[in-house]
Amino acid sequence: MNKLGLHANVWVAGWSENEAAMAIAKTAETGFDLIEIPALDASRLRPEETRQRLDAAGIGCTLSLGLDAKTDISSGDPELMKAGEEKLRTTLSVARDLGATHVCGILYSAFQKYFEPPTARGIEASAEVMHRVAGYAAENGITLGMEVVNRYESNVLNTAAQAVAYCEMVGAPNVKVHLDAYHMHIEEANPVEAIKATGAHLCYFHTGESHRGYIGSGSIDQPGIFRALVASGYEGPITYESFSSEVVGQPLTGILGIWRNTWTDGEDLARHAHTYMHAQLKAARETQRRPVALSETGA
Ligand code: MN
Repeated sequence: MNKLGLHANVWVAGWSENEAAMAIAKTAETGFDLIEIPALDASRLRPEETRQRLDAAGIGCTLSLGLDAKTDISSGDPELMKAGEEKLRTTLSVARDLGATHVCGILYSAFQKYFEPPTARGIEASAEVMHRVAGYAAENGITLGMEVVNRYESNVLNTAAQAVAYCEMVGAPNVKVHLDAYHMHIEEANPVEAIKATGAHLCYFHTGESHRGYIGSGSIDQPGIFRALVASGYEGPITYESFSSEVVGQPLTGILGIWRNTWTDGEDLARHAHTYMHAQLKAARETQRRPVALSETGA
């Protein structure tokens, strides 16, 4: 069964003791099974204390991050690649200490607007680093999700098909595809077909809305998305992601372009998201129920 998750930025921008306590307690209270903790700097996550809080609340966690210009493993620059590999390994050691099942996001390049297309050599180099890092992740039971994002946030993986090809290039069983409804709505010709085509490569899914606000209040075909996830046999986490400048600070506000608030009450947003996702998933599963043949009804 799919675990339902919530991105911590619905509650907090950072990870001070107070922020961690509030975000974990509220995520559990609103009914979610896991919290996705932003790990742009994993060294600030205080794994021992955070894990105690997670255990006390009875929820799990995943980590997400994007690399930056100084750690860009798709750059082809040996120094940046070395720094990127170190950053990924540091994040993985924190993930292990937290008991995180997945480390996701823009792990394969910088999380930024690029002004040039990627090079073939850069992508190969990124895949080589990912292969090495995957071994370390596997030793700790962690799956790596390559998040497919829109063209303004990376130049490497903008479609599900590109991500499948990248994972095949990496050639490690725990390096898989992370899709996001918001990004797919921008880049895919047909998000439903893209989810189905990704199939068993999919390891993580972000729900969200076209304007990144209340789920169901934008222009994404949410029933279609949930039906596609169920029809393709996906059983991994489904995590809701939404951002408001009421909560997140820089640099995220700038990178994501959060210039207006689609919500101010994170608790109302989270409760609605949990109810909505739970109902969509239930409805999608019911579409799989096979009708009884006429001859078996006794009519
Ligand atoms: Mn996402």
